[in-house]
Amino acid sequence: MSTLRVAVRPAVTMKVAQISRPGGDFEFVERKIPEPNAGQVRLKVLACGVCHSDVFTKEGSWPGIQYPRAPGHEVVGIVDALGSGVSQWKKGQRVGVGWHGGHDNTCRACRRGDFRNCQNLQVPGISYDGGYQEYMVAPAEAVVAIPETLNDTEAAPLLCAGVTTFDALRRSNALPGDLVAVEGIGGLGHLAIQFANKFGYKVAAIGRGSETAALAKKLGASVYIDTKSTNAAEALQKLGGAQAILATAPSSKAMSELIDGLATNGKLIVIGVASDPIEVTPLQLIVGTKSVEGTAAGASAAEEDTLNFADLTGVRPMVEKYPFEKAGDAYARMMSGKAEFRVVITM
Ligand SMILES: [Zn+2]
Ligand SMILES: [Zn+2]
Repeated sequence: MSTLRVAVRPAVTMKVAQISRPGGDFEFVERKIPEPNAGQVRLKVLACGVCHSDVFTKEGSWPGIQYPRAPGHEVVGIVDALGSGVSQWKKGQRVGVGWHGGHDNTCRACRRGDFRNCQNLQVPGISYDGGYQEYMVAPAEAVVAIPETLNDTEAAPLLCAGVTTFDALRRSNALPGDLVAVEGIGGLGHLAIQFANKFGYKVAAIGRGSETAALAKKLGASVYIDTKSTNAAEALQKLGGAQAILATAPSSKAMSELIDGLATNGKLIVIGVASDPIEVTPLQLIVGTKSVEGTAAGASAAEEDTLNFADLTGVRPMVEKYPFEKAGDAYARMMSGKAEFRVVITM
């Protein structure tokens, strides 16, 4: 009896879901698996979250994108190859890469340790090919460790939606027991409610319609304010005023209407991306020392803090999974606004 020996050769090509021009559709192409350069890590991608910011790559609305480009900045994978000089990551380790896709270490912000505001910030899927592909290369400083208790599809959305809400709340100056409002119960908001609850805040969830009330309470809100039937700012004032309002829904009008719901020294924190102006009068801000502040996703250390906090407290995203081959459908589902609540592509 003879034994047939089959040599297992490592794969040399991979599938990539790319956009080849602004406004183009997803195309599946075969490409050579990239080699990591010095200071880079290659991941075999396991899962990638589909974020609304993927629209920048899909529609070309971020300046300077070079096409073709594979989107994706909520990436979970296994370290598969290391470029020279990389000692902090090991082959076989499960890691992630989020919105913060690398910094230059030399600009003024970096020299102050403010990596999130690096003047040459790189974003996966925008500056270089992201997680909509079977293998991905990223700078070592953008890579984060993932706790074992989080599975791939749970960890992925925490690398952008998670860190954005977690970091905004911990920088809000609200103290345990304070009233904190979360406006919008969607991809960002359903995580923000959970984080705010675990931070020890009294959480007011603000949504449109009564359908999400039960879910908001289940996620940790103690109050639900329905803007269809209630003036949310007045409702917040009846509760003493909110120390922080995290505005997650992309509606400048809704944000403007909430400013009068702030307590003294309260802060409206803007993370929902809309393009029309927020309206506020100087007097609204001056009386009671109120402020409006924007914040972007934190850097790699903040991503790790988010993952570790989720590991500690049980905060988890609600996800809808799509196979990689259906990346276009996954993107369309996210854009429909009907997903509950984050869409994740699995390999
Ligand atoms: Zn994102
Ligand atoms: Zn920099």
